[in-house]
Amino acid sequence: MDNTETLVVIGTGHAGVELAFAARQQGWAGAIVLLGEESHLPYHRPPLSKAFLCGTVDAASLALRQDTAFEKSDIALRLGCRVRAIDRAAHEVVLDDGTALAYTKLALCTGGRARALDVPGMEGGPPSNLHSLRTQTDALAIAGLVREGARVVIVGAGYVGLEVAASARKLGATVTVLESQARVLARVTGATLSAFYESVHREAGVDLRTNASVQAIERDASGAATAVLCGDGTRLPADVVIVGIGMLANTALAEAAGLRVEGGIVVDEHAVTSDPDIFSAGDCTVHDSALYGRRVRLESVPNALEQARAAAGWLCDKPRPNHAVPWFWSDQYDLKLQMTGLADGHDACVVRGSLVERSFCAFYLRAGRVIAVDAVNRPADFMLAKKAVAAGACADPQALADTSIALKDLLALASPSLG
Ligand SMILES: Cc1cc2nc3c(=O)[nH]c(=O)nc-3n(C[C@H](O)[C@H](O)[C@H](O)COP(=O)(O)OP(=O)(O)OC[C@H]3O[C@@H](n4cnc5c(N)ncnc54)[C@H](O)[C@@H]3O)c2cc1C
Repeated sequence: MDNTETLVVIGTGHAGVELAFAARQQGWAGAIVLLGEESHLPYHRPPLSKAFLCGTVDAASLALRQDTAFEKSDIALRLGCRVRAIDRAAHEVVLDDGTALAYTKLALCTGGRARALDVPGMEGGPPSNLHSLRTQTDALAIAGLVREGARVVIVGAGYVGLEVAASARKLGATVTVLESQARVLARVTGATLSAFYESVHREAGVDLRTNASVQAIERDASGAATAVLCGDGTRLPADVVIVGIGMLANTALAEAAGLRVEGGIVVDEHAVTSDPDIFSAGDCTVHDSALYGRRVRLESVPNALEQARAAAGWLCDKPRPNHAVPWFWSDQYDLKLQMTGLADGHDACVVRGSLVERSFCAFYLRAGRVIAVDAVNRPADFMLAKKAVAAGACADPQALADTSIALKDLLALASPSLG
């Protein structure tokens, strides 16, 4: 391969780092420059709401790669370096300090940012004790505030909100969670799992309120948040407020450069954008899923890694199209949740195992086919479930619920390729 070419990667999250290393591994012989606006050595984001917040892992163990690994693979890592613009005609990116950097191929792995709470009390910037959780800097700030006896109000009961709730309870804080929808995790899973997690959190002492909207943030003279005011008139005194109301894809660079952006940077199965010299991977992208027959945007580490590897394959003439089945995990209390597929549009949900014993799978079926599975504390079943979703296996609901029939046999019957 041509060693005069330069691959520039923007973003040092899971997607950007994987893309840079995978490209080198697949044979990219030219320069690789990895640019990231954060100043921390690239790190694992998932533990921020879990082990890192609980204090059971430290910042050093969050590192995606040791700093020596970048040098060893001849990847020029530039931290604290924000890209301001892309000049596609000149094949250059413009950095915040005004300098230009030429590229042969470019990868946008710009991820996302936390959606901000937009209510009275947020004018002039958030209070010092109100945080979203997206970065290591956010997590450090939150960890400094969440302690035994602290009154923590969490806005939003998606994964991040619920994981923070579990961690805060572990730390002995008093926790209230406000969710504007009728159930927790409404955007990502079915009603059975939502009800299960609601009961788990309540049992752990979380004051969980659904159909609860935030009307305003009350602040004191110093500007700190003192309470969250709810739509029904309730006033919840707070020492810390954590906002977990979703993510916005960072697409501004791509949009300004005239790339196709439709709720995310549009990419194909090789992570190529509407410009053949520009790739994109991770949370900032959308793609057409062959499995689901529609456009999807996935916010997960596995998707970031798969797209990054697909991009590296295409870059190095070793195509490796991304047709991976979506999957995700979440750790709350003693529960390891692993999810595969996309459950929306299901017409039946079958539970296999025991909700009481906290060990079960929820199978989501559409027209008899398994389209998604949530596995709680069932890692072996999850591996089979993932294959079943990928194969579009059909399964008999009654048999699925019957734990006397081995899942392996059942799914092998449903789709012989799984046997
Ligand atoms: C608290 C938390 C817990 C999570 N838990 C899980 C989990 O359990 N399982 C799971 O699968 N997923 C989890 N996720 C989601 C997962 O972390 C993301 O899907 C994944 O990190 C996406 O990686 P990415 O590289 O696409 O984007 P990001 O991780 O967002 O990285 C993008 C990077 O690009 C940088 N950047 C953006 N614009 C520019 C620019 N113009 N110039 C330079 N740099 C720029 C950003 O600063 C950032 O560092 C969690 C996320 C959070 C926040």
